[in-house]
Amino acid sequence: MNARELREQFPILQQQVNGHPLVYLDNAATSQKPRAVLDAVSRYYEFSNSNVHRGVHTLGSRATDAYEGARERVARFIGAGSTQEIIFTRGTTTALNLVAASYAREACGEGDEIVLTPMEHHSNLIPWQQVAKATGAVLRYIPLQSDGTIRIEDVEATITDRTKVVSVMYVSNVLGVINPIKEITEIAHRHGAVMVVDGAQSTPHLKVDVRELDCDFYAFSGHKMCGPTGIGVLYGKKHLLERMEPVEFGGEMIDHVDLYDSTWKELPWKFEGGTPIIAGAVGLAAAIDFLEEIGMDAIDQHEKTLAAYAFDRLSTIEGISLYGPTSGRVGLITFNLGDVHPHDVATVLDAEGIAVRAGHHCCQPLMRWLEVTATARASFYLYNDEADVDALVDGLLKTKEFFGHAIG
Ligand code: PLP
Repeated sequence: MNARELREQFPILQQQVNGHPLVYLDNAATSQKPRAVLDAVSRYYEFSNSNVHRGVHTLGSRATDAYEGARERVARFIGAGSTQEIIFTRGTTTALNLVAASYAREACGEGDEIVLTPMEHHSNLIPWQQVAKATGAVLRYIPLQSDGTIRIEDVEATITDRTKVVSVMYVSNVLGVINPIKEITEIAHRHGAVMVVDGAQSTPHLKVDVRELDCDFYAFSGHKMCGPTGIGVLYGKKHLLERMEPVEFGGEMIDHVDLYDSTWKELPWKFEGGTPIIAGAVGLAAAIDFLEEIGMDAIDQHEKTLAAYAFDRLSTIEGISLYGPTSGRVGLITFNLGDVHPHDVATVLDAEGIAVRAGHHCCQPLMRWLEVTATARASFYLYNDEADVDALVDGLLKTKEFFGHAIG
């Protein structure tokens, strides 16, 4: 695959920022969108826009076909057994909150355990804190090794027969580590717990097969994988989703409504109250077509190669601290440059047209574990190449010159 050629399909990447060609390295926050996705969304609005599931007219059928077709596309993409297992949500956050509010509040009681890791994004942490507060369940954490990886022995020691839910990110948005989800799932199941996977950072970059992982729930966001903002997915095993109650009530999700009671539609619609994110689903399906045409294995390989190149080149900068393991990581690198505040690093880089993220990356507990308040992060995608890494290194050398006094 040729990243430079692919980049031509992304209109936003063709611009100059602050007098320099844009080098976009903030893909873990959100990815850019190719022409194919922009066109699919605008075609939908120009040709098919209508509300779904209710209209008998032609546009109503077109919109419904497009929306339900997108569900089929998602199901195939992640290897789900049926479209009934695919719930469209606003994103990973909403998907994880749905599992916490519906499944976990019912399943957990006083003294039961919910197992997480300290590297979790706030979206996969706070919903479980809320469940613990509401039910009397206890949060337990699988400890991290000094490079941010987790050991299976520690997973074995943390999950017990009291564990009802294990929820772990597949890929860390800070450390770049790929967690051993399949093994953790197997241990969770041995103790009768359900396995929830935060797939926000894995789905855009790795080939994912939920049935092979055997996880019970899997959440991800469209906007990090070339799709639009505002659309995401919760995959859940059918037998679990069937016994869960909806958390949002209103139009679209009902079967029969009386003045004092109501019944729900079957899966997946009982979880999709209100007018759904139709154009978002259409855009997500187009993004999946785009990614699969390139090939998820090719994307994964390209990013791993780029990450290794970036790790090597950045390591040569005196005074830099790189976080996470040296190998077995995805295409993102989190770092600090001496005592320079990451916001200052990002500001100097921005003046060079280079977009990186700085802050706590929605992982405050992990920042405390790393003993920093914030970091900078460069994250790559299929349209980045070695020239972008070289631009980043040059930008960091300039930053160093600018703040020379703050770097030991
Ligand atoms: N989990 C991880 C690992 C993430 O990186 C993110 C987004 O940055 C989320 C969850 C939340 O995703 P969203 O904001 O799309 O709901």
